[in-house]
This record gives sequence, C-alpha cells and structure tokens, in this order.
Amino acid sequence: MKNFIYRFNNKIRPRTNDKNLLGGKGANLAEMGKLGLPVPPGFTISTEMCDFFYKNKKKIPKLLLSKIKKEIKIIEKLTKKKFGNLNNPLLLSVRSGARVSMPGMMDTILNLGLNDKTVKSLANTTGNTRFANDSYRRFIQMYSNVVLGVEAYLFEELIENYKHTKGVLQDTDLNADDWEDLIFDFKKLVKSKARKNFPQDIYEQLSEAISAVFLSWESKRAKTYKRLNQIPDHWGTAVNVQSMVFGNMGNDCATGVAFTRDPSTGENSFFGEYLINAQGEDVVAGTRNPQHITKKARIKSNAKELSMQEKMPQVYSELKKIFYKLEKYYRDMQDIEFTVEKGKLWMLQTRSGKRTAKAAVKISVDMVQEKLISKKEALLRIDPNTLDSLLHPTLDEKTERKIIAKGLPASPGAASGRVTFSSNEAERLKSLMQESILVRIETSPEDIHGMHAANGILTSRGGMTSHAAVVARGMGKPCVSGSSQVYIDYEKKIFKSDGVTVKEGDLITIDGGSGKVMLGKIPTVKPKLSEDFNKVMSWADKVRKLKVRTNSETPMDTKVAREFGAEGIGLCRTEHMFFNEERILYMRKMILSKTKEDRLDSLKRLLPHQQNDFFKIFKIMNGLPVTVRLLDPPLHEFLPKTTKEVSEVAKSFNLSEADINGRINELHEQNPMLGHRGCRLGISFPEIYEMQCEAIFEALVECKNKKIKLVIPEIMIPLVSTAAEIEILKDLVDKTAKAIQKKHSIKIKYYVGTMIELPRAALRANDIAKFADFFSFGTNDLTQTTFGISRDDSGKFLNDYVENKIFNRDPFIEIDVRGVGELIKIATERGRKQKKSLKLGICGEHGGDPASIEFCEKAKLNYVSCSPYRVPIARLAAAQAYLKKQK
Ligand code: ADP
Ligand code: MG
Ligand code: MG
Repeated sequence: MKNFIYRFNNKIRPRTNDKNLLGGKGANLAEMGKLGLPVPPGFTISTEMCDFFYKNKKKIPKLLLSKIKKEIKIIEKLTKKKFGNLNNPLLLSVRSGARVSMPGMMDTILNLGLNDKTVKSLANTTGNTRFANDSYRRFIQMYSNVVLGVEAYLFEELIENYKHTKGVLQDTDLNADDWEDLIFDFKKLVKSKARKNFPQDIYEQLSEAISAVFLSWESKRAKTYKRLNQIPDHWGTAVNVQSMVFGNMGNDCATGVAFTRDPSTGENSFFGEYLINAQGEDVVAGTRNPQHITKKARIKSNAKELSMQEKMPQVYSELKKIFYKLEKYYRDMQDIEFTVEKGKLWMLQTRSGKRTAKAAVKISVDMVQEKLISKKEALLRIDPNTLDSLLHPTLDEKTERKIIAKGLPASPGAASGRVTFSSNEAERLKSLMQESILVRIETSPEDIHGMHAANGILTSRGGMTSHAAVVARGMGKPCVSGSSQVYIDYEKKIFKSDGVTVKEGDLITIDGGSGKVMLGKIPTVKPKLSEDFNKVMSWADKVRKLKVRTNSETPMDTKVAREFGAEGIGLCRTEHMFFNEERILYMRKMILSKTKEDRLDSLKRLLPHQQNDFFKIFKIMNGLPVTVRLLDPPLHEFLPKTTKEVSEVAKSFNLSEADINGRINELHEQNPMLGHRGCRLGISFPEIYEMQCEAIFEALVECKNKKIKLVIPEIMIPLVSTAAEIEILKDLVDKTAKAIQKKHSIKIKYYVGTMIELPRAALRANDIAKFADFFSFGTNDLTQTTFGISRDDSGKFLNDYVENKIFNRDPFIEIDVRGVGELIKIATERGRKQKKSLKLGICGEHGGDPASIEFCEKAKLNYVSCSPYRVPIARLAAAQAYLKKQK
C-alpha cells in the first residue's frame, strides 16, 4: 500500500511540505518541526487517504490502522508516554486540515485516549485530579459531538445547571469532584442519545475520530463553505494526529492565538490573546475573556489583568523569537496557535493570517521596505477585490447599532438617510440638502435619477446583478439588494422588517459591504487613501500593460475616476444625460415625435445641454481619450409611464392624452432589448446622432477657444452587427465633423469606432474594422446575446445554474472565457488583421472584475474600462494579470 502517513516532529526533516497532500495545517506543522521549533510530535494522514476513504465505502483500511500503530510507537518514544498506558498515558489530538483554512468548518478532537481507567492514571502521574477530570469531560464532549452526533449544547446545559445548583459562575470554579459528577452525567447523556456506551477502547476512539474528520469534509456546513469559496470537492482534507500538550494543568499553563502583525491595521506589532489554565478553543469560544499578549496592547485597552509579556516574561520572549523566525521563513504575516504546559512553550499551528484590505496594503509595503519581499510579490499579495472596502465610506465601529434586516452586499460602503419610496422624492430631498435611502421592491432604469440623488439603495428583491446592484456599483453608491425580510407597502409608505415598522422619512443606515440594514443614523468615516495605498498603486502602474479607463457620464463621477487614476473614459453613455427633470420632457417629445420637424425641434433643445455636459467632461479629462457612445437604449425606457407624465407630455404637444397613449402603443415592442435600439436608431433617425456629434464637436471648439487641452473623442456606434451599419454611420459622423470644422475653420481630431456586443459583429470583425478605428467590447450585452440570457431576468435561475455547476460563477460578473471570451479573441484577431492600429478595449461590468481583467491581458486588449470606484482595483488587477502571465 502507498504510504499515506507523513511524520512530523522537531527531530526530523519531513518527506514533503506539499500543502495539497498534507493540508495547510499538516504542511506547516512539518515545516515548523524542520525549523526546530517545539512542535508536539505527530503525523499527518494525507488528503489522498480522504479520497480513498470515500471510495472505500467510507471505511479506513485495516492496513492504515496497523501503520498508525507503528507511528504511535514513535510518538511514544519521543514523549516518553504510552497510548492507553496506566502509568503515563499518551493523549492525542485528531485535527482536520484542508489545503486552505476553512475556519470553524471542520472538526477537531482533543485528549483522545482517555477512558475511565486512563483518566485515573493521568490524575496519578500529574498529581492533578481536577486537570485529569477536566480533560476527560472535554474529550467526552468533543468526541460525542463530532463522532456520535450528540448536540453540543446538551453538555453545556448540564454544566450550566450544575454551576447554578452549586452557586458558582465560572467553569474554573468547579473542582475535581464536580467534574467527576459531570462526567457521570455526560456518559448517561451519551448513552441515551447515541444508544451506546461512551467507547472505552482507545483504538476504536482513534479510528472513529479519524473517520469523523474525513466525514466532516462532506458535512453540510463544509459543503456550503466549499461552494461559497469555490473549493473543489476532490481536494479532500488531511488528518493530523498529534500528541497532546496541556494548557489546563494549572497557573503555569496557558493557551493562546497570536498574529505576528496586527491583522486589522497591519501595524508591525504582535497582536494576540491568551488564557491561563485553559485548553484549546477556550480562547476563541468566548467562554472566558482572554488577556492580551503584549503589555503595550493591555495598556492601550485599559485592561487590568496582566499580559503574557508581564505574567510569563520568559515564555513571551521565546514566543517573540519564534514570531520573527516564522515571519522570516514564510515571508508573510503569521497567524499562530500555541500552548504553554508548565512553563514550556509548544507551537500548535502557523499559517498566513487573514487580514483586512488596509492591513494587506500596509503589510505588503512594510515587508518590501524590510526587504522581506519584492515589489512584485507585494503586488501579488493584495486581493484587488478587497480594495473596495478602502474606497467607500465606512461605518464608525464605535457606535452601537440595531440591525433590522439583512440582504445581499450588493455595493459596498455605508450610507444613512431618510427612507423614501420614490425616486422623485429622493431627488426632492436632495434639493433640500437632505440625505435619503431609496427603498424599492426593485429598481428600473427610470430610477437612475433617484439612485443618483439617494445616498444609498435598499431593495427587497433582486440579486447581486440586479439592476439596483449593477447601477449602484457603477455609481459607487452603497446598496443592499434582495433583502427578502423587508416587506414594502408603497401605498402606506412604510416597510416592515423584523417586527419593526419604518415610515417614510425615518432614518436608517445600510451597509452595502455586509448587507446589513440598521435603524437610525450611524456615523460614517470617510476613507483616507493612505500613503501605502498610493505606493502600491504606483508600483502597479509601473508594471501593468493594460490601460485603465472609466465608465462615466457625469462631471462628478469623472472627477472621482481621475482622482482614482483613470487614464481616460472608456464609456460615456449619452442617454444617461437625459434622465434629469428638465431634459426628460424633450427626450420624451423627441421620441414621440411623428414628424422630422417635431423631432428636430426637441433635439435642438437637447443640444446645448449635451454640449455643456461634454464640455465639462472634456475639461476634466484634459487631453485624455474619451469614448462617447451615441444613443443606445431601447426607447421605451424613456417613455412616459404614469398618467401625470403622459398628461405633461400631451400638454406640451398640444395633443390629447389619448393621442399620446396611442403613440406609446405604436412604439411598444415585444422584446425591446433586441428591438429598435443602438445604431438602428441612428439608421432610422440620423438627426439624433447628428445632434449628438454636433454637441461633441462644438464642445471641443469651446475647449479650444478656452485654451483647454483637447481630448481626442472616440465616437462609438453601439449595437452594430454588420459592416454596412457602421459604414453609413461613420459617414454621418464624418459629414457632421466636416461641417463644424468648416463653420469654425479649425481642424478637429477624432476617431470613430464601434461596440462589439453581438456575436455577428465579433465574427465579421474583419469587415467592420474597415470602418472602425477602435472596438470596445460591450461584454454585458455580448454575454446576454451569446447565451441568449437576459441579465435582468437571470436572477430567477442563476442560483440553480451555479448549484448544478452549469456555471462556476455568474457570467455577468466573471467573463465566460470559453464562450464570450472566444468571441472576443476572434474579433481581436480578425479586427487586427484588417487594421493593425485597431484599438481594443472592454467596457462591460467585467472591466472591473479581476478575473476578467486577467483574461483581457491574455487576449492582448489595450485597455479595460470600469466604474470610477473600481479604477484602483483594475489598476492592481492589471498589474497582477501581467505578472501572472510572465510566470
Ligand atoms: P482549527 O483548525 O479549528 O483551529 P485545530 O486543529 O487547530 O482546529 O484545533 C483547535 C485547537 O485545539 C488549537 O487551537 C489548539 O489550541 C488545540 N489543540 C490542537 N492540537 C493540540 C495538541 N496537540 N495539544 C494541545 N492543544 C491542541
Ligand atoms: Mg487551529
Ligand atoms: Mg450594450
């Protein structure tokens, strides 16, 4: 049989340190042993055995058991104790350990090897009956829970009742006899729940415990965790069997956890907690309040009880040396578990510690300065997605809060304001300088202005890619979506949640990073981008090849994006400029016009607004490229909907409401997403695109007159599927440009290109490139049209698709490399073959997704474009993508 067992202790060099085989915990125990650190001896049963176990009808092969017995002999020699011996019994811990840490998901059993007899001998050899009984009762609790499935709270209840009868508060107040009584009760409980006696055979205990750890890989909670974190089933878990050391033998004993740096701020100082006279998970479980490791931390938090540094100075200084050693070896911040037995320090675990984005940035920069890691490594260590939390306002940690609902963390950041149920009301409040939270069952494109005006958005329906979520992320607005507990009554202008009724005008706070909804206004703190952050960004900029642009159509967003380092605008959606109160009426009139004259009249009124918007944006962009997309969306999005809106439009036309309603009916489409939109509008109503081009060019003239550095606009024709469409519309742009140039007798430089968002366009890229200076991949629509899935309706079945592993991830979040990606590659190749200078970019939501950015680098695009708040994320992700490609 293959050798599935890997020994570790500080006398040997381990056979391997392969995490895939040993799991993270096992690999690091082996390495700590190799470094000569005090690691209790033991062995790891590899993840391959987990696989074998499941193929072997969930049974441990006999041969393995005999090998395990041999391994235990080695441990016995090293510890001078004997498993099951009545003089000096060896006890073991059985610990799970997958490739990556899965906190709280898998099981661990301590003090294995105790039974009614060995507990007596443990008491005798240590001269400490209380300790022996305490260890035994812990073992019964853990084993019965993990192996026999007796619920943990039943034991806790027995302990609580016992303490109550005795009139004491703490577990530490119970003496040896008390624990003996409880052990008796525990065993009775096990018998009644598990219908068998608590096992006295120590080898039965061991093999059952090992099986249980393997079984926990498929437990319900592990399954959920694996799914959420994309951990494949076939990885399996390893099992670590290790000799026990005891932190619960008296006041010269302790157990603790520590980080080599502060995991929330990244500050380079030890951070940790310990408990005197305690075992294992007491620190994490919160049954007793742990104390600080360092004196500095104790003083800072005003705690009275002595820190480890003060109470056990010698052990502390040894621990400190180990911290340094481990950091130097792993070249990363470590998360450490240790135990002190009678003044002797034992190391039980080390791993790279989880950290906040803030800490990740600071630690990376510090470690570069300490010459521990290179800049490249520093860049690769920071998860770009987590930077989100640094870029949005956050809730002040110090304030108390009442949580009334939870939903999806759709768009990070925190916001407070008055509850409003309509977009108009949100806009009204804004004009009064009041903050609001827009609360809707779901949002639609008509709510854009309200979403802009509100400080945050809460919806009771919709997923992470619902309209509310996507738009909010685009705007950098905090949003909690799909909070199903929230019951909204638009009529009464209230919502109910968790037994609380919230009225219009009441203050609430939402945290889009955690999905929490809270009562009242909780103060936020504005994030300050640290010097370290800027340093990381400057390193990223030096490395990356992809340019990073932003999707933006308002001066405010454009400013933010430039502050975040955007190198251009990749998508300026002109239709978003028409949603505000003043303009929407003319927009509606324009759409509803029956004659060209009427349409021209409305367009004439829209022109100065559009020109002014472009001027402001061009001014901010100061010479950087700006891609302006001509009118794209289905026109129905702009049609009047309420009777009030209809009558408004009717009045301004001098027509009856019935006439208007008739025209609306005429314009009705079965499937507007695939209807009269994009360049099809430009073909039918060239005057619309003419007006837009005029606005762009006149804005440039204005810039020139005011001596503002000229941007080179990239005029983008949307939804093209044939070369003929772009040929006609390019001609229209050129003619308009010519006229304006002639009018002002100046020369204007501009490009014309197209969005590639239909499969046919990707396939015919060679023809289309004849008339295009650039392609911008509109991957939102390209994903919709490639799959034939409507993004707005996908919420209903996307989860089923992810659950059934049809999709790994939502293809609207992470680009579908095999399908949509293939089309992008085809279009890139064919387009560049036609025109070498063709500029290529991506402007869908994917432009801000690190995994998709990695694809863009591989596909050799020139730039990605994303929402302003994702620009720094994209800068880092683009650098990582390039570095990964070099490997
Ligand atoms: P987790 O992965 O949940 O942290 P561990 O396997 O690390 O689980 O075990 C939890 C705790 O049990 C450890 O933090 C440690 O305090 C204790 N423990 C594990 N093995 C031993 C051992 N050999 N001796 C003493 N305590 C141990
Ligand atoms: Mg642990
Ligand atoms: Mg589109």
